[in-house]
Formats: sequence, C-alpha cells, structure tokens
Amino acid sequence: MPDLEKLTQILTKNGFTVARFATGAQAAAYIDRQIDGKTVGFGGSMTLKELGLYELLSAHNTVYSHAVQGPSAQPLAAAAQVYLTSVNGLAETGELINIDGHGNRVAATIYGHEEVWFVVGVNKIAPDLEKALWRARNIAGPKNAQRLGKKTPCALKGDRCYDCDSPERICRVVSTHLRKPTSIPVAHVVLVEEALGY
Ligand code: SF4
Repeated sequence: MPDLEKLTQILTKNGFTVARFATGAQAAAYIDRQIDGKTVGFGGSMTLKELGLYELLSAHNTVYSHAVQGPSAQPLAAAAQVYLTSVNGLAETGELINIDGHGNRVAATIYGHEEVWFVVGVNKIAPDLEKALWRARNIAGPKNAQRLGKKTPCALKGDRCYDCDSPERICRVVSTHLRKPTSIPVAHVVLVEEALGY
C-alpha cells in the first residue's frame, strides 16, 4: 500500500484539496454531499461508473456524460461548473497523469471549470512520475482500447502499449498536473483505498 498520508501532504502542498476514504462507497457518498445544485460534466471514467456517481449526482444536479447520453453531451460537459474524472496514473511524488485521444477530458482538467474532481483508486498510484506514466501507457491505455473495441495491437494482445500508428490509436495527448492549475479555483483529489477503474 502506498503511503497515502505522505501523498496527501504532497498533493495539499501542490494546491489540491484532498480527501481520503477506505472504500469507494464512502468516497461516493462524500462527493454526493459536496456537489449539489450544479451543472456537472463527466469525463469517460470507469471509476466514476463503478461508484455509481452519475446516478447519485443526477438526483440533485444537472449531469452531462457522453458515456451515458452520447456525443451531444460533450460540449455541455465542457461548459459545466464542475467536472469529474479520474487519472490514468498518480505518482507518489504528486504528479497526476492523464492520456486522452479526443482531448476533451484532458482539456477539462486544465481549464474552464469552477471545480475539478479527480477520483483515484489505490491501483492508479505508482512510486514516481516515470512509473505513473508507464502505468498510464501500458496498463490504462490497452485496457481502455480493449473496452472501446479499438483495432490496435494493445487491444488485440492486451499486454502492453505498442506505441502504435493505428488510425484508431486512443493515446494522443498526455497531461501531467504538476500543481493545481491557477485557472481552476478548486481541484479535489479523492483517494480511495480500493482498486477502482484502470
Ligand atoms: S498508443 Fe496504441 S498501442 Fe499504445 S496503448 Fe495507445 S492505442 Fe494501445
């Protein structure tokens, strides 16, 4: 188990608002209490899906998720007050890594929202930036390509990233949050001591 106390201290120093929970259910209940009466955009995220956050938040917010509502929800999610996603890798040294193909998810974590929430299961945490990037590329990338049914070597073999030239390549942008972006007033990191998403 990574040292979540130390990671909390580093992320807090870097400007993030950090909360830590033993279970995904506790984390979901906390997020559900914190976000109320807002427009909320969802990035494509198995973590959010596993926590049932779309259903929870939709009861008292206006939620836009292209995974649920289709592509027309994407510009609405981009313009929402609050944006939720996960990460593809989180370094114990404090860096948050995301890989994107379309660019909407990465863009939304950098600019344009009153609040951004990163919900992170313990399986996403790696000892340092290099290993967090390795994880994002070689674990999250292939699993997402498989989930999306892409015709890429990683989706066929499911073992690692091949840095492919496939037209269906989903890995086109990598973002690294070194600190909280100044244009985002509040950026939350919710750490969960369970495996969530990939
Ligand atoms: S770059 Fe290509 S091979 Fe590597 S994870 Fe992304 S889609 Fe798969």
